[in-house]
Amino acid sequence: MPTAQILTIGDELLAGDTVNTNLAYLGERCRRLGFEVVRALSVRDRIPEIVAAVGDGAVDLCLVSGGLGPTSDDLTAEAVALAAGVPLVRDAASEAAIAAVFAGFGRPMPDINRKQADLPAGCDVLPNPVGTAPGFAVDLPRGTLVACMPGVPREMKKMMAEQIEPRLRRRFALPEPLRRVYRLIGRGESAVAVDVEPILAAARARSAGLAAVYLHYRAATPQVLLILEALAGEGGARATEEELRSFDAPFEAALGRSLYGIGEAELEVRVLAACRQAGLTLGTAESCTGGRVAARLTAVAGSSDVVLGGVVAYANSVKTGILGVTEDSLATHGAVSEPVAREMAEGARRALGVDLAVSITGIAGPGGGSPEKPVGTVDFAVADAETCTHKRVQLWGDRALIQHTAGMVALKLVWD
Ligand code: ATP
Ligand code: MG
Repeated sequence: MPTAQILTIGDELLAGDTVNTNLAYLGERCRRLGFEVVRALSVRDRIPEIVAAVGDGAVDLCLVSGGLGPTSDDLTAEAVALAAGVPLVRDAASEAAIAAVFAGFGRPMPDINRKQADLPAGCDVLPNPVGTAPGFAVDLPRGTLVACMPGVPREMKKMMAEQIEPRLRRRFALPEPLRRVYRLIGRGESAVAVDVEPILAAARARSAGLAAVYLHYRAATPQVLLILEALAGEGGARATEEELRSFDAPFEAALGRSLYGIGEAELEVRVLAACRQAGLTLGTAESCTGGRVAARLTAVAGSSDVVLGGVVAYANSVKTGILGVTEDSLATHGAVSEPVAREMAEGARRALGVDLAVSITGIAGPGGGSPEKPVGTVDFAVADAETCTHKRVQLWGDRALIQHTAGMVALKLVWD
């Protein structure tokens, strides 16, 4: 397996001003491509430090982000040219492209921006359709390929995906990525690990490809994603798509209802597709989530045939006035209670004219908790024409996390 290192450049990364998200992104992309990422370095915008960090000969690939800007503190191109042993030369096509960006804004090009077209002689120029700084790839004398991208995450990601990855696939003869995602809500990462690790261990003994299947755990409360990835193993053997699928049945048996789906699609996409298939319309009645569930659903393009609307019933007056929650339920049980959750869901069905409605009422905190209903207590109900099911969940975290988690749990309840 070819080796890679990630080099992120910029004073701001070391001073703690910028969180190094490019590293996480590039690390993941490299691994997915089939590189073994052996190290990551961050250095300041200083020529000798950059030259020392490119790692010529130590790795097959060095991916670089940052320091391609027009200002005097952006020195990456100069440093990499030095490491490659070539001069910097002005690339006419890049200069014209930068001028065109400024012309597009109707502004004259500052002279210093020309500097961004000064690239190592003989490099492979990577045009930047969303910014001014072009990227470039160049071979160092001892065999390391260095590919440099802008630091701006949006520009970096586009250049990586559209220009660098196809080049890397060709040059290193890398196969297309192969992975399988198992999506869970309602079970913690460690409990999941206890259930799935034996399945994986047993499978690994079956073939060289399966032995190289890598399992990632992505915990993003309340979700856990299990990602099986076919990496190249002994003699380059990789698990086939069929072999990855063979994990479905044992994972389903081990994980039960917490496993809500297999594949790339997010929960809200699945909920919408299931409603569409069943010919059901969907609405929401949200108190503590303030519209997050409706926002998640409507962020999916084409959701309008399923989602008719939602009510953010934050005040009791809205719960009674629009959703028809009874004063009696509020007074006897409180706004966060099973009867109120049920009345909210049923009221949303009527008020919105939908087949299926989900309600959420809870205590997001930091204030408002009590010994019987501590912060994080959330009542949910899902109502359709025949039934109304209720669930109370005790969530954990600060206000933002409780709101986020409650929104996901609500979607999971609709899914169930
Ligand atoms: P440009 O040509 O657009 O100026 P550049 O290559 O000079 O790009 P930098 O000046 O290093 O890029 O960074 C530009 C922006 O990108 C800054 O706002 C910086 O905070 C952000 N950035 C740089 N490196 C990283 C990184 N490793 N992770 C996340 N953000 C980053
Ligand atoms: Mg910089």
